[in-house]
Amino acid sequence: MIKEKIIKSALSTSKLPGLDYALNPYRGCEHACVYCYAPSVIHWDKGKWGELVEAKVNLPRILSKELRAKKKGVVGLGTVTDPYQRAEKKYKITRQCLELLLMHDFPVCIQTKSSLVLRDMDLLKRFSNIEVGVTLTALDENVREKLEPGASSVEERLMALSELSKNGIDTWVFLGPVMPYITDVEALVDAIAIVNPKYVLMDRLRLRWGVWERVREFIEGFKPELLADYERIFLKGEDYYSAVFERVRRRCDEKGVMCKMNRLVD
Ligand code: SF4
Repeated sequence: MIKEKIIKSALSTSKLPGLDYALNPYRGCEHACVYCYAPSVIHWDKGKWGELVEAKVNLPRILSKELRAKKKGVVGLGTVTDPYQRAEKKYKITRQCLELLLMHDFPVCIQTKSSLVLRDMDLLKRFSNIEVGVTLTALDENVREKLEPGASSVEERLMALSELSKNGIDTWVFLGPVMPYITDVEALVDAIAIVNPKYVLMDRLRLRWGVWERVREFIEGFKPELLADYERIFLKGEDYYSAVFERVRRRCDEKGVMCKMNRLVD
């Protein structure tokens, strides 16, 4: 369900690495990823995550005023919601924001799991400073469907990355969260290398409030034999990620892809 929402401010200061401002055209996210911790960040109290989305219909008008007064800085588009989720097809709030950001020449960093970003290629190509990040968690479409039910398929995302690159847009891949014993990191890096991103940013699964319950439910339904492994890693603190990240780094080196670790701390 989508509800329209009137807001009072558009840009907020961002503490995320490389960003000065955060801009989120929607509140809530239809992609409904199992591992999403945005509900805890925005104190979501409107039912099951993914079922309701609030479209900030007056956001472009407010943003237009703010851009005239704010110091220029990098705007992260979609830090706690996907700016290209399905509601965007109808509302085009992200597109209107991009038009304004372009007019004021603000640098922009987009992060999405949707190939709908290609709709705005005409605008993206005109920015002097823009990059688009696409998240990939697993190469197996069966895993993707269960983990990120509302998002674009793996194939669509790889195609989006490829098209963006071909059109001269800087891209990057958020490789995460790496799901223990589910994400085939080598296969994923191999597929990513073909679409030529500027860099890969890898991240582990972060169990902020509510996430463990959803991940456990997912594992119980998808691969119950992994439940004991997940409990060792996430409840007892077994170090799973050091070795996996080393494997990602090695494979990225072999494929000539720059690799970084997400610096976000829980
Ligand atoms: S796309 Fe991002 S914001 Fe949306 S549900 Fe998935 S993790 Fe959360």
